[in-house]
Amino acid sequence: MPDAHEKFKTTCSYCGVGCGIEVTVTGKDRLALNGDPDHPVNKGMLCSKGMNLHYTVMDRTDRLLFPQMRWSKAHPMERVNWDAAIQRAAAVFKTLIEQHGPDSVGFYISGQCLTEEYYLVNKLVKGFLGTNNIDTNSRLCMSSAVAGYKQALGEDSVPIAYEDIEQADCFFIAGANPAWCHPILFRRLEAHKAKNPDTKIIVVDPRVTDTCHLADVHLQILPGTDTVLFHAIGRWLIENGYTDEQFILNHTDGYDHYRKAVLKITLKQAASICKVSVNDLELAARYIGSSKGFISMWAMGLNQSTAGVNKNLALLNLHLITGQIGKPGSGPFSLTGQPNAMGGREVGGMANLLAAHKDLANPEHRESVAKFWGVKEIDAKPGLTATQMFEALRDGRMKAVWIICTNPSVSMPNARLVDEALSAAKFVVVQDISQRSDTLKYADLVLPAASWLEKEGTMTNSERRISYLSKVIDPPGEALPDSEIILRFARAMGFHGFDFDSLGEVYAEHCRLTKGTNIDISGLDYSRLKQLGTVQWPVPSLGHQGTTRLFTDKKFYTPNQRAQIKTNGEELPTEQVTPDHPLILTTGRIRDQWHTMTRTGKVNRLNKHLPHPFLEIHPSDATSRGIKEGDPVVVSSQRGEVRVNAVITSNIKQGVVFLPMHWGKHLGQDFGRANNVTDDSIDPTSKQPGFKFSAVEVKKYLNP
Ligand code: SF4
Repeated sequence: MPDAHEKFKTTCSYCGVGCGIEVTVTGKDRLALNGDPDHPVNKGMLCSKGMNLHYTVMDRTDRLLFPQMRWSKAHPMERVNWDAAIQRAAAVFKTLIEQHGPDSVGFYISGQCLTEEYYLVNKLVKGFLGTNNIDTNSRLCMSSAVAGYKQALGEDSVPIAYEDIEQADCFFIAGANPAWCHPILFRRLEAHKAKNPDTKIIVVDPRVTDTCHLADVHLQILPGTDTVLFHAIGRWLIENGYTDEQFILNHTDGYDHYRKAVLKITLKQAASICKVSVNDLELAARYIGSSKGFISMWAMGLNQSTAGVNKNLALLNLHLITGQIGKPGSGPFSLTGQPNAMGGREVGGMANLLAAHKDLANPEHRESVAKFWGVKEIDAKPGLTATQMFEALRDGRMKAVWIICTNPSVSMPNARLVDEALSAAKFVVVQDISQRSDTLKYADLVLPAASWLEKEGTMTNSERRISYLSKVIDPPGEALPDSEIILRFARAMGFHGFDFDSLGEVYAEHCRLTKGTNIDISGLDYSRLKQLGTVQWPVPSLGHQGTTRLFTDKKFYTPNQRAQIKTNGEELPTEQVTPDHPLILTTGRIRDQWHTMTRTGKVNRLNKHLPHPFLEIHPSDATSRGIKEGDPVVVSSQRGEVRVNAVITSNIKQGVVFLPMHWGKHLGQDFGRANNVTDDSIDPTSKQPGFKFSAVEVKKYLNP
């Protein structure tokens, strides 16, 4: 228990902005919280979610306090001690692996896990269990951006820093609503625009969001047409002499192919496909072409698509043909959804990755990581990704899943398939902090975990900034840090290589493994990190102060050091609207809730913003269906249905409807679970599902 009024510096555990927070202990389990005025990200500012984060820790009424398990599906859950829980997990995993092979088990984890936790689980699964079946909810979030960066720049590498915002004069915000989802970044953007009114802001979104209030041009496109739009802008830039020929010649490959591809569709044709005006399209292109510093920002609107990688590449190409990368105030900037999705990728936290941004598909990388971990080999076969893992559970190919810090019963697309999968699984471990997770009801073993402020570790935000998070208070009951739970399991399995005396040793091992890679942080350890406060990778040596922006030397991470202008053509979404399902459903987030509300949902002042799930529908679509404001409606797709109340608004494009993704099942009843209806088709490269395009119908609910 720290001294009363002792002040700790930490980082917000919601979005990828990574704001600095100061926490003061004011009494037993009593905390006060402020934005850290010295933090380079937020300079003391916090958004509504961040400024209420300590309430989620102080209110322990919903916390899981001790391990529980059941001996079979027919038995009730019973309280057990940690030894019994870990021994049971180890016994079941050993038996399943012996009987069905290592690919019969898997781990599904979270972009909210700390880097050390991610590192340990990956080492355990890929190095010792002998399967690559470990994936994360970051698959639902950033995997299309990762694949785009890798193909175009040779590495999963966000080139810019937040301080570039104050140096740019044109922003292209596509498929993102930072006013609600990355609020502190948006406030920096607002302040910059207020000081520099000539700064141009272009927003691409089928909805009029709060972000649009800052826009000079809003391109309200039809969902699924982003690549056509970006190619049309590329065409205009080429035809009007706004490309950087020297940059293209000296630092890129693929331009001729790109040029031919984008010239195939006229601006008029593109405007017609995207359902925007030619004038607005030209204006946006002119703003980009004439800017000195051009930043693109994007999030789920591009990534959560069955063509997510192509959309990312088409956007990255706008930077590559204009040379707007690797210099102050310019560059592509994917807005990370979760607080440590980037840290998770650094340690290889996905089914196709290895630690230190090494590739599972590369035999030399596999060999080097295996040698480092002291294991014979790492299996070459890629593991199952998020949606594939639940399909395998439903079909019986996978028998057991260990879920850490995520609530797939609400957050995965086609949620009913996920429910079937978890019901069919032989053994489900749920390691979480809260009784509010809908996934708990499928658990055979429940492991109570420590929450934010109850454990130490590190995270990396959207701009590659690593921060150290202090432990401030003890977890409640018998809850343990996730890293400790994994270490106990690894030892119970009899694996060597998990005899760490401290988390600092785990972090030091991760740092050593990055030596010589593009994300080299071998100049870091806990003591240095605490001394620096925060630092952006790479940090390749002791004394190195971190790296603000990448590619300032125009040398990219591809084998020939040239950026790749990739053109895969336009594409349509996998799912098509039909007469039975004529509307396009897009899902997303609201300002004051986070993911499936297991934390934000218990803060009254956050629940006041938008207290109930709802469906946004255009007035014409509502009128033609006899729907009035507030009416209960049924949204149905090929996969299922969900009942909510209608909000009629011309802020959404005609033919498109919107559901927030946060609500799940409440007290056993469907309570606005948007993912009952979403499509679980995935991008062929990134394997990211297309949450942003599902064909649905909406009808008035007649028997409420
Ligand atoms: Fe937390 Fe994101 Fe809000 Fe910052 S912007 S306080 S990181 S939720």
